[in-house]
Parts: sequence; structure tokens; C-alpha cells
Amino acid sequence: MLRYNLPMSRTLLIRISAGILFLLISWIGYTQNQGGQPPPLTINKVKEDLYEIEGDGGNVAVYITNEGVILIDDKYEQDFDNIVAKVKSVTSQPIKYILSTHHHADHSGGNTKFSSVAEIISTANARANIVQHKQSNAPANMVPARVVFTEETAVFLGGKEVRARYFGRGHTNGDAIVYFPALRTLHTGDLMAGKTPLIDYPGGGSVGEWTKTLDEALKLDFDTVIPGHGPVTDRAGLLAYRNNVEKLRNRAAAMIREGKSQEEVGKVMIAEFGWASSGLQMQWSLPGMMAELK
Ligand SMILES: [Zn+2]
Repeated sequence: MLRYNLPMSRTLLIRISAGILFLLISWIGYTQNQGGQPPPLTINKVKEDLYEIEGDGGNVAVYITNEGVILIDDKYEQDFDNIVAKVKSVTSQPIKYILSTHHHADHSGGNTKFSSVAEIISTANARANIVQHKQSNAPANMVPARVVFTEETAVFLGGKEVRARYFGRGHTNGDAIVYFPALRTLHTGDLMAGKTPLIDYPGGGSVGEWTKTLDEALKLDFDTVIPGHGPVTDRAGLLAYRNNVEKLRNRAAAMIREGKSQEEVGKVMIAEFGWASSGLQMQWSLPGMMAELK
């Protein structure tokens, strides 16, 4: 907060105005969508009895057993009806459990409606982030999981098993990695999401720990990966993502050690790692990264 002791520069003023404008546009976008139709979803088969639902928010995994369905994540609140319809298109079994990967509204926003029909399970930290309204994308009406774990849990249903592990910080301080042992498949939550990492420092994230967390996940026996966002991939895809996080961290750390400013580091993240110039990475990841990698 040293910055505020200095006379307010023109660029700072412009940056603050841009920030306010961004928040305003996001808010208008959010509220305008409330009355409208939520975006359509698609459901794809991943393996026997395992599907994933894409579109609007994080990828939802759907695991069908003869005693009910286990979901991984539940997108935004507005997607509830569409998720239920997509699940109905592949099975008549009811949704019984939801394993949440983390607290962000695009993965756990559906809790608000699903909590009355299914048991929701998350890490203790993901629950705490929802309860404490960690600003980072947890709306005030979000419903936290009733059942939590700190290291590992599993759901056994209809002779099938789904495991959830907490391996450490990364995207947030509460990211679960979900493992389907019989199918050798992972759902990574946002520990793998899109092309470049979003480190949610307000939500306890860490670029330093991220690769260690993924290294633990890579010790599991799997060949298929459902990422938090983006198309289904494989072990090589996850490893490449992990290596890109390391490359990004090393690049930023070297610049920070050379005394480069936050603005200069930000420019390199945009140019070389695909960060959007006014996106969440610039708000949530960059300031925290400057402090963590000092
Ligand atoms: Zn997220």
C-alpha cells in the first residue's frame, strides 16, 4: 500500500478508472444475464459411464452408477436446470453427490440449488472461502458444502469409487483433484484451466506451490484429464500445462529479482503468457505474484 503515500500519478488514475469501468461492465453483464436464458451446454462422453458437460463456467464431470450420479462441480446457479437436463439425457439415475473442486462461482455457484437435492463435498478451505465471502468470485448467496475434508475423501456408490485429494495450494488454497481410479481419469478443477494459470491470491493461491501440487497429482495412475476449463486432454497435456506454470514463474521471478516493476512484469505476462490486459490475472495474480516471488 506504499503506492498511496506517493502523489497520485496520471497513469495510476487512468488505471483506477479502467478498473472501475471493468468492474462496472462485469456487473452489468452479470445482472443483465439474470433475466435472460443461460448459455446452452453440451455433454460429451469421456469413458464408460463418465461424461463431461461444457459451456458456461467450469467443466462438470458426470459419473453414472446404478445407485445414483456423482457430479464434479456444478457451474453457475443459472445453469442448474440445464445441467439437470443434460444428466437426464444420459441416465434416469438421480444426482446424489457433488464433489466441488473449489469455491469459485463458475464451479460451485450451482450449490445454491443443488444443495437441496444432493450432498455437496469440498475441501475445508473451499468451504471457508465461501463462508468468509473471499471476494474472489464467491457471491454472497453461495451455499457451502455440508461435508468437508482436508487431505482425502472418497465416495462409494453403486460399486464405483471417486476419490478427491487435496495436494496443496495452486489456483486457490482449497483445490481438490478428483480421481476416478477405475477409469484412470482426473478432474483437475482450475489447477488446469485454459492455456495459462489464474492464481487467485485473495483466495489463497500460490504460483510457487502450484507445480508441486500438480507433481503430486501426476504420481497418480491416469491417462485422461478433464480440466477445469477447455477440452478433455491426457497426461501429456497436464504435464505441458504444469511446465508452462513453471516457465511463467521462472520468467516472473527473474524479472522481479532484477527489480522490474509490476507494470513491466504484467506486460511480459500479457505478451508471452497470454494474460488479458484487463482480465482477472492482472487483478488477482499479478500483485500477489510480485509479493510471493520477491
Ligand atoms: Zn476457479
